[in-house]
Amino acid sequence: MTEKERTEYFKILTLEAKLIKQKYKTLGTGRSGKLNQWSGYIPLKNQTAYVSLYIPKNFPNEPPVIKVRGTRTNFNEELDILKNWRRGYHITDVLDALREYLERRRVDDRITKRLAEELQRMKEVSRTLLTGSEFVSIGIRRDTPSLREYSLRVTFSRYSRPKFRGRSITVRITLPEEYPTTKPEIEVSSGEEDMNLKIENYLENMQPLRTWSRDNYISEIALSLLKFFDNLAPPTCPICLSKITKEEQGDAAQCRNPKCQSIYHSRCLEAWIRQGYKKECVVCGKPI
Ligand SMILES: [Zn+2]
Ligand SMILES: [Zn+2]
Repeated sequence: MTEKERTEYFKILTLEAKLIKQKYKTLGTGRSGKLNQWSGYIPLKNQTAYVSLYIPKNFPNEPPVIKVRGTRTNFNEELDILKNWRRGYHITDVLDALREYLERRRVDDRITKRLAEELQRMKEVSRTLLTGSEFVSIGIRRDTPSLREYSLRVTFSRYSRPKFRGRSITVRITLPEEYPTTKPEIEVSSGEEDMNLKIENYLENMQPLRTWSRDNYISEIALSLLKFFDNLAPPTCPICLSKITKEEQGDAAQCRNPKCQSIYHSRCLEAWIRQGYKKECVVCGKPI
């Protein structure tokens, strides 16, 4: 370095030092007092990061070298301002960009953690859902490695309402970009328009979707869906209007009209006939 270069370098460092002291008061030159080495904490939202930086001799032709304690990130390859370096930039511009980068990464880390937690909770409830009830069970599937997409396959058992038997409904849960600030998106495909509407209508009003907050998890929605389908799935006796359990189905009577297939408690049907009514289905009028 010639005398002239040395003077020029000192002049540049003095200007940079002035700017740094104005905007980043927490940074210092350390014990050496050299104006080409700075370190200290920079503020982030709810947190700080310890930064060390070195200003090379041919600055500003060359960018500074940045290190952050606790990370092995090569910021000269990560930060756009360092990658596309221009002579007009100052150290404070680099620090501004670094702060923004670190804050964004913290948010990313938080989201990744949250998505992993969602997966864990889904795994925890999966056995309960799969065991389900005597009428319905729900299997959780992930068709892609994404932690943002789940599909729930709702399967009706042979004890469920005749019109549901053997059928399955798919409920897709997608976690949007802004999740968990915004609620998950839910899509139902049952192959039947009115069924889709019925389920969607229920979902709109169901907790926790109605008053969604970041304290809620999709595993709660999955459990709530199980309850919903468990209420919907059992056959109902058209006479007494109550559920017909798996046990009661052993001696239950069923309408033979394939389009109707209504199921009756045998005791209800017998009482009905004793009262003088014909042995006809009260729903479709065909003989039972
Ligand atoms: Zn009955
Ligand atoms: Zn009938």
